[in-house]
Amino acid sequence: MLKNTALCVLLLALIVLCGAAVKNKKDKTVIKPTSTSAANTPSSGWFTGPQSPSGDDEIREICENVEDFVVNIRRELHKFPELMYKEIKTSAYIQEVLTDLDVQFSPGWGLNTKTDRITGHGGTGIVAQIGTGSSPVVLLRADIDALPITEEIASNIKSQNEGRMHACGHDGHTAMLLGAAKVLKGMEGSFEGTVKLMFQPAEEGGAGGKRMVEEGVLLDSPKVDLAFGIHLWPALPSGTVGGKPGVVLAACDRFEILISGVGGHAAMPHLVVDPVVAQASIISSLQTIVSRKLSPLESGVVSVTKIEGGSAFNVIPGAVTMWGTVRSLTDEALRKLMGSVEDITKGIAETHGCNATVRWSPDYYPPTVNDDELWFNLGEKVASKVADSGAITPTNPTMGAEDFGFIAQSVPSNFYLLGQSSSTVKTDWNLHHPKFTMDETVLKRGVELHVRSALDGLAMLAKNKKSEF
Ligand SMILES: [Zn+2]
Ligand SMILES: [Zn+2]
Repeated sequence: MLKNTALCVLLLALIVLCGAAVKNKKDKTVIKPTSTSAANTPSSGWFTGPQSPSGDDEIREICENVEDFVVNIRRELHKFPELMYKEIKTSAYIQEVLTDLDVQFSPGWGLNTKTDRITGHGGTGIVAQIGTGSSPVVLLRADIDALPITEEIASNIKSQNEGRMHACGHDGHTAMLLGAAKVLKGMEGSFEGTVKLMFQPAEEGGAGGKRMVEEGVLLDSPKVDLAFGIHLWPALPSGTVGGKPGVVLAACDRFEILISGVGGHAAMPHLVVDPVVAQASIISSLQTIVSRKLSPLESGVVSVTKIEGGSAFNVIPGAVTMWGTVRSLTDEALRKLMGSVEDITKGIAETHGCNATVRWSPDYYPPTVNDDELWFNLGEKVASKVADSGAITPTNPTMGAEDFGFIAQSVPSNFYLLGQSSSTVKTDWNLHHPKFTMDETVLKRGVELHVRSALDGLAMLAKNKKSEF
């Protein structure tokens, strides 16, 4: 009897164990690709066009399904914009979303190493990972910081941080990448390799992207093979995707020029050394740099954007300060501009008996360059699939700058401009304007750009790896 009972218990235990094993197996079932990957097709070059692991229509539908999720995140982020290296709440919020999505991540990236020049501790960057955790690797990047601008649009998502505004669309960029995280997590197991998601602080002049590159975001295992970034672009209509091979955004640096003289009574200018007159002459002469120092075939910008000095109409100040920016499409031309700014400033200041010091930012931004081969074999095709017209909108380079340039310097990269100007949503104001408005309907297209870039990029890398054997 006892023996029979023991046998029954053993049998029951086996049935339960088998059931659990079946359940676990079911839980770990991977989503299979719905169409044949191009991985078996012989490759003719290292960048040859891939097929998406899923059908084109299906990817569009999956990305459209996360629209509400993405728009809600964007609205939440828009309410609490934070400046570079101080994106504490923003970072915590992103981590919360990634945790909910069951996506692995490491926080603490993007520490501010230039605290003598830029305030804020940093460490608000995040690197998340989806996929096998091994090679090949595609990196998708979003920036998370806001600007010191007071928002002038009345809405229920208006900035609650006085004097701070997401006026460059980085709230949308972050939301789109989290949307891509949701989609790619749902497809995990259906693609070979890893997608790294980079949420970087301090894009607006703090070189947060460079800090993360220095910290190893590209080289840490698994090493990044390709990278993609997106900027919402009010100059292009909604439904379009812009871009080009080669340089898309300029190299940029900013200057701070202090001109010191000897102040005194405005009625007795012969007894002072007037820095205001010296400054006026310097500002005019700086405008000759682009026309007389740079080749007419090169592009350049020298702009003085802020001047400060003096306290009364009848007092000549002892010193004045001015700030501005230089930009060009090549590093070489940028260096020429910088050298000319220094020479002209110091020479004219000396002529006036003043002293001038010129300070540059701790990190100049290099031009953002789209890798030609990657663009023709992948970027342009992906952008065309996402655009309503089925074709990329060719764009000229812009003198705007991006610290995605630091990434594009290190690995083959493509940067897209996502059109966001709509007749139904009034989005006439440009980036960095207190009335900048986002056409949220394009965010799902940004998700699609990310997802397609990642999947097609991984498929291409896997195919090319196989062809090496
Ligand atoms: Zn900006
Ligand atoms: Zn921006």
